[in-house]
Amino acid sequence: LQERMIRTEKMEIVSHLASSFTHEVRNPMTTVRGFLQLISGMDMEKEKLTNYISIAISEIDRAESIITEYLSFTKPTSGELHILEGEEVLHYSVEVIRPLANANCVDLYYKPSSFYLKGNKQRLQQAFINLFKNAIEAMPSGGSLSISVELKQKLVMITIADTGIGMTEEQLNHLGEPYFSSKGENGTGLGMTVVYNIVESVGGTIKVKSQIGQGTQFILTFPQRHINEFNQQNEEVV
Ligand code: ADP
Ligand code: MG
Repeated sequence: LQERMIRTEKMEIVSHLASSFTHEVRNPMTTVRGFLQLISGMDMEKEKLTNYISIAISEIDRAESIITEYLSFTKPTSGELHILEGEEVLHYSVEVIRPLANANCVDLYYKPSSFYLKGNKQRLQQAFINLFKNAIEAMPSGGSLSISVELKQKLVMITIADTGIGMTEEQLNHLGEPYFSSKGENGTGLGMTVVYNIVESVGGTIKVKSQIGQGTQFILTFPQRHINEFNQQNEEVV
Protein backbone atom coordinates (compact mmCIF):
# COMPACT_ATOMS: atom_id res chain seq x y z
CA LEU A 1 0.00 0.00 0.00
CA GLN A 2 2.79 2.38 0.94
CA GLU A 3 4.58 1.71 -2.33
CA ARG A 4 1.46 2.44 -4.32
CA MET A 5 0.96 5.73 -2.48
CA ILE A 6 4.48 6.83 -3.30
CA ARG A 7 3.92 5.96 -6.96
CA THR A 8 0.68 7.96 -7.00
CA GLU A 9 2.40 10.94 -5.42
CA LYS A 10 5.16 10.77 -8.00
CA MET A 11 2.67 10.66 -10.84
CA GLU A 12 0.96 13.68 -9.35
CA ILE A 13 4.25 15.58 -9.32
CA VAL A 14 4.91 14.59 -12.93
CA SER A 15 1.49 15.63 -14.15
CA HIS A 16 1.64 18.84 -12.12
CA LEU A 17 4.93 19.70 -13.82
CA ALA A 18 3.46 18.85 -17.20
CA SER A 19 0.51 21.15 -16.75
CA SER A 20 2.67 23.95 -15.40
CA PHE A 21 4.97 23.72 -18.43
CA THR A 22 1.99 23.72 -20.75
CA HIS A 23 0.98 26.92 -19.00
CA GLU A 24 4.52 28.30 -19.42
CA VAL A 25 4.43 27.68 -23.15
CA ARG A 26 0.96 29.11 -23.48
CA ASN A 27 1.93 32.40 -21.80
CA PRO A 28 4.38 33.59 -24.44
CA MET A 29 2.01 32.42 -27.17
CA THR A 30 -0.76 34.56 -25.71
CA THR A 31 1.58 37.55 -25.55
CA VAL A 32 2.63 37.10 -29.17
CA ARG A 33 -0.96 36.76 -30.29
CA GLY A 34 -1.89 39.93 -28.43
CA PHE A 35 0.90 41.92 -30.03
CA LEU A 36 0.06 40.68 -33.49
CA GLN A 37 -3.53 41.70 -32.95
CA LEU A 38 -2.43 45.15 -31.79
CA ILE A 39 -0.16 45.55 -34.78
CA SER A 40 -2.78 44.50 -37.29
CA GLY A 41 -5.51 46.65 -35.79
CA MET A 42 -3.81 50.01 -35.87
CA ASP A 43 -1.70 52.41 -37.70
CA MET A 44 1.41 52.96 -35.61
CA GLU A 45 4.78 54.58 -35.58
CA LYS A 46 7.72 52.60 -36.88
CA GLU A 47 9.47 52.70 -33.49
CA LYS A 48 6.53 51.26 -31.59
CA LEU A 49 6.05 48.60 -34.22
CA THR A 50 9.72 47.54 -34.03
CA ASN A 51 9.44 47.32 -30.28
CA TYR A 52 6.32 45.12 -30.40
CA ILE A 53 7.90 42.85 -32.97
CA SER A 54 11.03 42.41 -30.91
CA ILE A 55 8.97 41.47 -27.84
CA ALA A 56 7.03 38.98 -29.94
CA ILE A 57 10.26 37.42 -31.20
CA SER A 58 11.77 37.04 -27.75
CA GLU A 59 8.53 35.50 -26.45
CA ILE A 60 8.61 32.98 -29.29
CA ASP A 61 12.24 32.19 -28.42
CA ARG A 62 11.22 31.67 -24.83
CA ALA A 63 8.48 29.22 -25.79
CA GLU A 64 10.98 27.42 -27.99
CA SER A 65 13.47 27.04 -25.10
CA ILE A 66 10.79 25.59 -22.86
CA ILE A 67 9.78 23.13 -25.54
CA THR A 68 13.42 22.11 -26.09
CA GLU A 69 13.99 21.67 -22.39
CA TYR A 70 10.91 19.72 -21.61
CA LEU A 71 8.74 18.64 -24.46
CA SER A 72 10.86 17.93 -27.50
CA PHE A 73 11.90 14.38 -26.70
CA THR A 74 8.97 13.27 -24.68
CA LYS A 75 5.28 13.59 -24.26
CA PRO A 76 4.79 15.43 -20.97
CA THR A 77 3.22 12.49 -19.21
CA SER A 78 4.80 9.57 -21.05
CA GLY A 79 6.19 7.57 -18.22
CA GLU A 80 6.22 3.97 -19.37
CA LEU A 81 9.28 2.22 -17.98
CA HIS A 82 11.39 -0.43 -19.70
CA ILE A 83 14.74 -2.07 -19.24
CA LEU A 84 16.94 0.00 -21.54
CA GLU A 85 20.37 -0.28 -23.10
CA GLY A 86 22.10 2.61 -21.36
CA GLU A 87 24.76 2.83 -24.02
CA GLU A 88 22.13 3.49 -26.68
CA VAL A 89 20.45 6.20 -24.59
CA LEU A 90 23.78 7.97 -23.99
CA HIS A 91 24.92 7.57 -27.58
CA TYR A 92 21.72 9.16 -28.90
CA SER A 93 21.93 12.07 -26.45
CA VAL A 94 25.58 12.71 -27.34
CA GLU A 95 24.76 12.78 -31.07
CA VAL A 96 21.86 15.21 -30.54
CA ILE A 97 24.13 17.64 -28.69
CA ARG A 98 27.19 17.28 -30.96
CA PRO A 99 26.29 20.19 -33.31
CA LEU A 100 25.88 22.54 -30.33
CA ALA A 101 29.23 21.36 -28.92
CA ASN A 102 30.93 21.94 -32.28
CA ALA A 103 29.42 25.39 -32.64
CA ASN A 104 30.82 26.31 -29.20
CA CYS A 105 34.31 24.80 -29.62
CA VAL A 106 33.59 22.16 -27.00
CA ASP A 107 35.37 18.81 -27.36
CA LEU A 108 33.14 15.85 -26.56
CA TYR A 109 34.59 12.75 -24.92
CA TYR A 110 32.43 9.70 -24.59
CA LYS A 111 33.71 6.17 -24.37
CA PRO A 112 30.81 3.77 -24.90
CA SER A 113 30.34 1.13 -22.23
CA SER A 114 27.59 -1.45 -22.08
CA PHE A 115 25.06 -1.27 -19.23
CA TYR A 116 21.35 -1.64 -18.55
CA LEU A 117 18.96 0.48 -16.53
CA LYS A 118 15.22 0.85 -16.04
CA GLY A 119 13.53 3.99 -17.27
CA ASN A 120 11.70 5.71 -20.07
CA LYS A 121 14.00 6.14 -23.07
CA GLN A 122 12.75 9.53 -24.30
CA ARG A 123 12.66 11.05 -20.83
CA LEU A 124 16.17 9.85 -19.94
CA GLN A 125 17.47 11.22 -23.24
CA GLN A 126 15.81 14.52 -22.37
CA ALA A 127 17.59 14.54 -18.98
CA PHE A 128 21.02 13.87 -20.50
CA ILE A 129 20.49 16.47 -23.22
CA ASN A 130 19.52 19.10 -20.63
CA LEU A 131 22.70 18.31 -18.65
CA PHE A 132 24.92 18.39 -21.75
CA LYS A 133 23.35 21.67 -22.87
CA ASN A 134 24.03 23.31 -19.49
CA ALA A 135 27.61 22.05 -19.59
CA ILE A 136 28.16 23.57 -23.04
CA GLU A 137 26.51 26.83 -21.99
CA ALA A 138 28.95 26.95 -19.04
CA MET A 139 31.88 27.03 -21.51
CA PRO A 140 31.34 30.20 -23.55
CA SER A 141 34.91 30.12 -24.86
CA GLY A 142 35.14 26.39 -25.43
CA GLY A 143 36.41 23.52 -23.31
CA SER A 144 35.69 19.87 -22.89
CA LEU A 145 32.66 17.82 -21.97
CA SER A 146 33.42 14.29 -20.79
CA ILE A 147 30.86 11.59 -20.25
CA SER A 148 31.99 8.46 -18.47
CA VAL A 149 30.30 5.34 -17.17
CA GLU A 150 31.39 3.25 -14.20
CA LEU A 151 29.74 0.03 -13.08
CA LYS A 152 29.69 -0.65 -9.36
CA GLN A 153 28.01 -3.93 -8.46
CA LYS A 154 24.33 -3.01 -8.31
CA LEU A 155 24.78 0.58 -9.45
CA VAL A 156 25.78 2.43 -12.57
CA MET A 157 27.48 5.81 -12.19
CA ILE A 158 27.40 8.26 -15.06
CA THR A 159 29.68 11.27 -14.71
CA ILE A 160 29.18 14.37 -16.84
CA ALA A 161 32.11 16.72 -16.40
CA ASP A 162 32.73 20.13 -17.95
CA THR A 163 35.61 22.59 -17.76
CA GLY A 164 33.28 25.57 -17.51
CA ILE A 165 32.60 28.51 -15.22
CA GLY A 166 31.44 26.41 -12.26
CA MET A 167 28.81 27.30 -9.69
CA THR A 168 28.79 29.23 -6.43
CA GLU A 169 27.57 27.64 -3.19
CA GLU A 170 24.41 29.72 -3.60
CA GLN A 171 23.81 28.43 -7.14
CA LEU A 172 24.41 24.84 -6.00
CA ASN A 173 21.83 25.26 -3.25
CA HIS A 174 19.18 26.48 -5.67
CA LEU A 175 19.93 23.96 -8.42
CA GLY A 176 16.76 22.18 -9.51
CA GLU A 177 14.36 24.80 -8.18
CA PRO A 178 11.88 25.70 -10.91
CA TYR A 179 12.80 28.97 -12.62
CA PHE A 180 16.21 29.23 -10.94
CA SER A 181 18.56 30.49 -13.65
CA SER A 182 21.70 32.60 -13.81
CA LYS A 183 21.20 33.20 -17.54
CA GLY A 184 18.67 36.01 -17.40
CA GLU A 185 16.63 36.29 -20.58
CA ASN A 186 18.43 33.31 -22.08
CA GLY A 187 17.48 30.87 -19.35
CA THR A 188 14.24 29.15 -18.41
CA GLY A 189 15.42 27.65 -15.13
CA LEU A 190 13.41 24.55 -15.99
CA GLY A 191 16.11 22.28 -17.39
CA MET A 192 17.44 21.02 -14.05
CA THR A 193 13.96 20.70 -12.54
CA VAL A 194 13.17 18.33 -15.39
CA VAL A 195 16.46 16.45 -14.87
CA TYR A 196 15.86 15.89 -11.13
CA ASN A 197 12.30 14.85 -11.78
CA ILE A 198 13.25 12.29 -14.43
CA VAL A 199 16.26 10.84 -12.58
CA GLU A 200 14.48 10.55 -9.23
CA SER A 201 11.41 9.00 -10.81
CA VAL A 202 13.50 5.94 -11.76
CA GLY A 203 15.26 5.61 -8.40
CA GLY A 204 18.37 7.51 -9.46
CA THR A 205 20.31 10.13 -7.53
CA ILE A 206 22.32 13.19 -8.56
CA LYS A 207 25.50 14.46 -6.91
CA VAL A 208 27.09 17.72 -8.01
CA LYS A 209 30.65 18.89 -7.51
CA SER A 210 31.60 22.31 -8.77
CA GLN A 211 34.39 24.80 -8.49
CA ILE A 212 34.30 28.36 -9.77
CA GLY A 213 36.49 28.75 -12.82
CA GLN A 214 37.34 25.04 -12.89
CA GLY A 215 34.19 23.25 -13.91
CA THR A 216 31.32 21.09 -12.77
CA GLN A 217 30.72 17.38 -12.40
CA PHE A 218 27.31 15.80 -12.29
CA ILE A 219 27.38 12.24 -10.96
CA LEU A 220 24.20 10.34 -11.70
CA THR A 221 23.68 6.99 -10.03
CA PHE A 222 21.06 4.50 -11.20
CA PRO A 223 20.17 0.99 -10.10
CA GLN A 224 21.90 -1.31 -12.57
CA ARG A 225 19.80 -3.90 -14.38
CA HIS A 226 20.93 -7.15 -15.92
CA ILE A 227 21.14 -8.02 -19.62
CA ASN A 228 18.94 -11.07 -18.89
CA GLU A 229 16.12 -8.77 -17.81
CA PHE A 230 16.54 -6.81 -21.05
CA ASN A 231 16.44 -9.97 -23.18
CA GLN A 232 13.51 -11.40 -21.27
CA GLN A 233 11.49 -8.21 -21.70
CA ASN A 234 12.13 -8.25 -25.45
CA GLU A 235 11.17 -11.91 -25.77
CA GLU A 236 7.86 -11.12 -24.07
CA VAL A 237 7.15 -8.42 -26.63
CA VAL A 238 7.75 -10.80 -29.57
P1 ADP B 1 18.83 27.42 -17.46
O1 ADP B 1 19.88 26.59 -18.19
O2 ADP B 1 17.68 27.78 -18.33
O3 ADP B 1 19.41 28.59 -16.73
P2 ADP B 1 18.65 25.07 -15.81
O4 ADP B 1 17.59 24.58 -14.88
O5 ADP B 1 19.05 24.17 -16.92
O6 ADP B 1 18.18 26.48 -16.34
O7 ADP B 1 19.93 25.40 -14.94
C1 ADP B 1 19.80 26.24 -13.79
C2 ADP B 1 21.09 26.96 -13.44
O8 ADP B 1 22.05 26.01 -12.93
C3 ADP B 1 21.81 27.60 -14.60
O9 ADP B 1 21.28 28.88 -14.91
C4 ADP B 1 23.23 27.69 -14.06
O10 ADP B 1 23.37 28.78 -13.18
C5 ADP B 1 23.36 26.43 -13.23
N1 ADP B 1 24.03 25.33 -13.94
C6 ADP B 1 23.49 24.18 -14.38
N2 ADP B 1 24.40 23.39 -14.96
C7 ADP B 1 25.59 24.05 -14.88
C8 ADP B 1 26.94 23.76 -15.30
N3 ADP B 1 27.25 22.62 -15.94
N4 ADP B 1 27.89 24.69 -15.04
C9 ADP B 1 27.59 25.85 -14.41
N5 ADP B 1 26.35 26.18 -13.98
C10 ADP B 1 25.35 25.30 -14.22
MG1 MG C 1 19.51 24.66 -18.97
